[in-house]
Amino acid sequence: MNDSENICLACGCCCDGTLIGFVQLDKEELPVVRELTDIEEANGKGFILQPCKSFCDGCTIYTKRPKQCGIFKCGLLKSVEQKELSFDSAVEIIDVLKQKRIGIENKLAALDFELKSPSFYFKMVELKKLLQKNKIESSLTQDHLELLSDIEKLDGMMSQSFDLSL
Ligand code: SF4
Ligand code: SF4
Repeated sequence: MNDSENICLACGCCCDGTLIGFVQLDKEELPVVRELTDIEEANGKGFILQPCKSFCDGCTIYTKRPKQCGIFKCGLLKSVEQKELSFDSAVEIIDVLKQKRIGIENKLAALDFELKSPSFYFKMVELKKLLQKNKIESSLTQDHLELLSDIEKLDGMMSQSFDLSL
């Protein structure tokens, strides 16, 4: 197994709902993919909502995974492939990302927010918008301000290291 495959095995953050919210499916692959995993369908279009039900310490349908899953490469993966970043440095960045997620989830659990999405990614999108709006209206507590700061730092890291954003 090469560094790129090992990086993704060590990470999984584009499958578990940390870094992206959904995977768009091609129309022609819908019949096959709906037999393999849980998908959402509307108006003839299909997508996998993250966290993907086929993610369990790696992709459990790897050889038959959807087209977009096969071609997707985040900025971190590209940097490793282009030898701009060492494998060990990439793993450190992934660890920091996962720690940031845990920190935010812990803070969130102690606060009184009702968020519908099961996806960490969409929760962060929703919260960022809500907290920024309330910040303008000066109605945030210190805990809210800290949470917003953590989410903005996470967004900065996503953009800088993974070429993705909230
Ligand atoms: S976020 Fe990037 S490094 Fe992580 S699993 Fe996805 S493509 Fe691989
Ligand atoms: S099908 Fe596999 S590669 Fe695609 S999102 Fe799900 S777990 Fe990840």
